[in-house]
Amino acid sequence: MDIEKHLEDLRSELKKYAYEYYVLDQPNVEDAYYDQLYKELVILEQDHPELTIPDDSPTQRVGGVVLDSFEKVVHKIPLYSLADVFNEEEIAAFDKRIRKTLGDKVEYLCELKIDGLSISLKYVDGKLAQAATRGDGTIGENITENVKTIKSVPVTLSEQVTVEVRGEAYIPKNAFAKLNEQRLEEGEDVFANPRNAAAGSLRQLDTKATAKRNLSTFLYNIADTASFSISSQEEALDVLKKWHLKVNQQFRKCQTVKEIWNYIKEVQDLRDLLSYEIDGIVIKVNSFVQQKKLGFTVKAPRWAVAYKFPPEKVETVIKSVEWPIGRTGVVTPTANLQPVKVSGSNVSRATLHNVDYIAAKDIRLNDTVILYKAGDIIPRVARVLLGKRPKDSQSLIIPKVCPACGSKLVHLEEEVALRCINPQCPAQIQTGLTHFVSRDAMNIAGLGPRVVEQLFEKELVKDVADLYELDIERLLTLDNVKEKSATNLYQAIQASKTNSLERLLYGLGIRHVGAKVAKILAEHFENMDEINEASLEEIAEIDNLGEAVANSLKSYFAKKEVQELIAKLKKQNVNMHYLVPKKQDPALSNSLFAGKTVVVTGKLTLDRRSVKEQLEALGAKVTSSVSKKTDLVIAGNDAGSKLTKAKQLSVEVWDEERLLKNLDPAK
Ligand code: NAD
Repeated sequence: MDIEKHLEDLRSELKKYAYEYYVLDQPNVEDAYYDQLYKELVILEQDHPELTIPDDSPTQRVGGVVLDSFEKVVHKIPLYSLADVFNEEEIAAFDKRIRKTLGDKVEYLCELKIDGLSISLKYVDGKLAQAATRGDGTIGENITENVKTIKSVPVTLSEQVTVEVRGEAYIPKNAFAKLNEQRLEEGEDVFANPRNAAAGSLRQLDTKATAKRNLSTFLYNIADTASFSISSQEEALDVLKKWHLKVNQQFRKCQTVKEIWNYIKEVQDLRDLLSYEIDGIVIKVNSFVQQKKLGFTVKAPRWAVAYKFPPEKVETVIKSVEWPIGRTGVVTPTANLQPVKVSGSNVSRATLHNVDYIAAKDIRLNDTVILYKAGDIIPRVARVLLGKRPKDSQSLIIPKVCPACGSKLVHLEEEVALRCINPQCPAQIQTGLTHFVSRDAMNIAGLGPRVVEQLFEKELVKDVADLYELDIERLLTLDNVKEKSATNLYQAIQASKTNSLERLLYGLGIRHVGAKVAKILAEHFENMDEINEASLEEIAEIDNLGEAVANSLKSYFAKKEVQELIAKLKKQNVNMHYLVPKKQDPALSNSLFAGKTVVVTGKLTLDRRSVKEQLEALGAKVTSSVSKKTDLVIAGNDAGSKLTKAKQLSVEVWDEERLLKNLDPAK
């Protein structure tokens, strides 16, 4: 083999992937595949010292890039990458190297490796002065205004220090899932993993767009520790916390490889319970004096390594492909797979996103593919195993017409998605109905997709307003619906008429009007008529909204059929007003929960959402993470890190039984 040529190929392949990953935020291969090629390059370069290593070899550079659309920031103290290790033996080899230089007195601080984007924050006299991305390590992008929208980043520190701190900006798991769902609905490419989603969200030219992404941070580094009397990583974390920066508390001090390995196993068990994604752990020599002795390579510190979790990937076969239509008309090709278990759950379907995605990966029927879960959430096809492709395989036939209504499918401007633009398309109406009755919208219990399908097929319901014309007699004509369930369903439908405006607005499924935007609109305008009549400018100017929402609302209400639908809903006495939450009942001040900050965690037999609503009705503030401000933690079965943290902070913990007694003292 011509080694030089092979090295060149490897480098150019890695560079291509790095471009897709760091610039486009849209990787086309899994990280593990990239890491494997990278490792091959490192070994080959080491084995051939006679060949010069070019300066731009991926092994010589920190991987990020700097986009021209942002002002550049020079990092006086560079931000480094980390060398990777993948198993216990490699950790042992790292430990051996460390002890060779330092002798036997070594202590490690192990931290979670947050799957986000490196950021650097400069505070001057305790005030946030600048935020930047890592970029290529020495030059980053100025993202100060974007970072200011992240709630966990304090604008003012608790002390008036001048300091540069570093850490990770990340997107929480639920926000990542929501963002991808929304992107699919809007015909955009989904983000492959939380890190790319965080990067894409932070590098938005419109800071309002960043604000909507619910990013958060964990800080773990002080750039110039010499200016402060701090002598170890552990102390640095403590100081960061004291300054009111958000610090991840799941770190562990370890003395031996065995202890590190045990910590890794514990973290792996904890992983699913965390509200953010991690892709490994970082092992750091704790003492700064020792870190200094070890120094840096061109790319990474010698005193730290990142252990990467093995990706959970499985092989399966694509049995068939469907082309379902979403409520906004987007066609999302979906593969039916030979069922397999991946990351703890059985998977028999995977999204193929859009036609471009299918073409880029050349996915065909009966192909054997590698499946994995992106950020452990959505099953994705990583790539096709070409060696296992049947000889007679043919490319997928892309539908030209909507499988539900037969109208021509189109690509709207700048969209990768195929869309059915027929407003009367039955598939769109049906998925729209399912959305209308869903929990965050009108919350009509008992109206699952199957009931909706029947209502639609039996022509009992043609639009959402028809739901309110249903009586018990008609509901009884549905399969498997008996007197009791018909009555319950009827009552649930009737009860939904009194919902506050934001639920109805969200339920209508207007493009760009998610639950949060619906709430902002309802609070601002207070009734449907005002929204209907509002001007484009009036809507766009409302806090956090903007032109996309305004345009979408205007074009929605401009439709004749929408006006007819609203009139029909009004006729059925569906509430069109924003119902301001009742002023706190004075009786509430006697409630045990009044003014308390409560966190609910673990598996409960009660519905989590209704527990939250009940607690709030009794005057509690229900938050998602445990801190010193938390007064009470309700811990169900298998409660994980939140319970551990509550114990660490000596916060009061109740089990579900105790909660039940106190919610309903009669019990
Ligand atoms: P890295 O992600 O492997 O590790 C370094 C980074 O870890 C730091 O910059 C920091 O942002 C982060 N980090 C998270 N928690 C940390 C903590 N507690 N302490 C210190 N750092 C912490 O290295 P990298 O250079 O940022 O990225 C390289 C990786 O990116 C590759 O290993 C690969 O997995 C991935 N990549 C993938 C593709 C692809 O096409 N799939 C392409 C390029 C790179």
